[in-house]
Amino acid sequence: MSPFFVPGRLFIGGEWLKGRNDFDDRNPADLDEVIGSFPQADASEVAAAVEAARATFPGWRRTSRILRAEAFDRLAQLIKRDTDALATLMARECGKNITECRAEVVEGLHMVQYVFGTGRAGVYGEVVASEIAEKDVLVRRKPWGVVAVVTPWNFPFAVPLWMLGPSLLEGNTCVFKPSEETPAIAQRLVELFVEAGFPAGTVNLVHGAGAVGEQLVKNPGVNVVCFTGSYAIGKRIQEISAGMPDRIVAAEMGGKNAVIVCEDCRFDLAVNAGILSAFKTTGQRCVSASRIIVHESLVEKYAKAFTDTATRLRFGDPLDPTNFAGPLVNRKGVEKVLSYNALAKTEGVKVLADAGDVPANAKGCFLSPFIYQANTNPATRVLHEEVFGPHVALIPFRTDEEAARIYNDTEYGLSMAVITECYRRMRFFRDECEYGMGYVNLPSIGAEVHLPFGGVKKSGNGHPSAAALVDAVTHKTAWTVNHGTDIKMAQGLTTAIEGGPA
Ligand code: NAD
Repeated sequence: MSPFFVPGRLFIGGEWLKGRNDFDDRNPADLDEVIGSFPQADASEVAAAVEAARATFPGWRRTSRILRAEAFDRLAQLIKRDTDALATLMARECGKNITECRAEVVEGLHMVQYVFGTGRAGVYGEVVASEIAEKDVLVRRKPWGVVAVVTPWNFPFAVPLWMLGPSLLEGNTCVFKPSEETPAIAQRLVELFVEAGFPAGTVNLVHGAGAVGEQLVKNPGVNVVCFTGSYAIGKRIQEISAGMPDRIVAAEMGGKNAVIVCEDCRFDLAVNAGILSAFKTTGQRCVSASRIIVHESLVEKYAKAFTDTATRLRFGDPLDPTNFAGPLVNRKGVEKVLSYNALAKTEGVKVLADAGDVPANAKGCFLSPFIYQANTNPATRVLHEEVFGPHVALIPFRTDEEAARIYNDTEYGLSMAVITECYRRMRFFRDECEYGMGYVNLPSIGAEVHLPFGGVKKSGNGHPSAAALVDAVTHKTAWTVNHGTDIKMAQGLTTAIEGGPA
């Protein structure tokens, strides 16, 4: 057994539990390496985790918001101490390149620092005016109660912190169900919460596949589900939750993102933006661009430069920082991308690059870029569906209006970038495209934690994550106090009571 082997545990009500029904966690760069073995929580363990969070909620809610925030300051110091080890574990577990893993740990740290700072800042509520001079009105945010945090494998450290951070700061308690592909980094994060002094029951951890997530979502003791993952699962969670009073679902889902390359672009910047958007994280970011929409006057030149650059990228060992990117997360991911590559060919696209598996890395889940040119067509599935891998279409356009139409012609609306030197043009795309995150002269990737992170259509249901999550994990209350000695009502409502006390 590897000296780095992680023994998996559930964490419920402050107790580390061995659980049962273990599943293996493997390194996608070398499927022979087992990172750890993790217990799949059963129904009673999921229920116990929700119960522990419920029981802890009243005490945590009553703890000063500033003291809750200070626990995040301690957590920040621990993340700084362990940055390299966390990045290395993440790279081994999910296959992202070590440089990306380090950036993700820093992103998680930034969320923790943001939450700490927010503890003393003014988002707690506001004082608003009343029609009646003697009345003071406080609009206060109150925590909902128990938040289920259900997360994907591709950002296994930062995305959980985007959700756990605001939820806990506002006084909620949490049950965290990480992806079954990345239980080790999730468990390490929970260990850091414990070391930082978060009280027992504030953060609970249940491991396992989708069925465990579904048991959690079905539990009526959960007030809020913070979900990030695919549209199919987000939809399922919203359907389950529709029958529950007071249930809030904040769902961040997939994308079919694009970079729009205009005629007036800086050409090299446009190629680099396309490459980073399409192939960072091997195309497995929710904001990865699988469509580059290129002005027809540039398409030939762009196709050559983009394909030449892409075929020089090195996809290899995630622990080697000189590699551009690593493997896909598992064999299922490889098969899915290969099936879309095959579909593209049957849909009549012009294939520009198709090297398939990376043979030198047969023990891992490596794939080379698949690049093709295709005209816009509502019937071409590969231009509309999320593939989640190094699979990218170059689509020519004639006018800005046509480019916006092509961009919008998917059921998703997460992220877009436009490459142009023209301020009128960038404003046109800003206003006409449907997205949650828009970029100019940048790739379609690149979140920062103090910004809202979300999308529209199949990409999100209007509750952005990261800093903006505070709106989903609290509800606003109006608290009105009369400082007068008699009752005066708004809207001129009369207060005379016939036969009342003199
Ligand atoms: P996934 O939807 O397969 O799984 C996400 C999580 O949901 C996992 O923890 C999984 O175990 C759990 N789950 C599965 N079935 C469930 C069920 N029936 N009930 C409750 N939970 C269930 O996604 P993934 O493969 O881990 O991640 C990739 C997807 O996530 C892509 O579609 C990507 O675009 C999306 N994503 C979106 C964002 C965003 O912010 N919009 C960020 C990262 C990833």
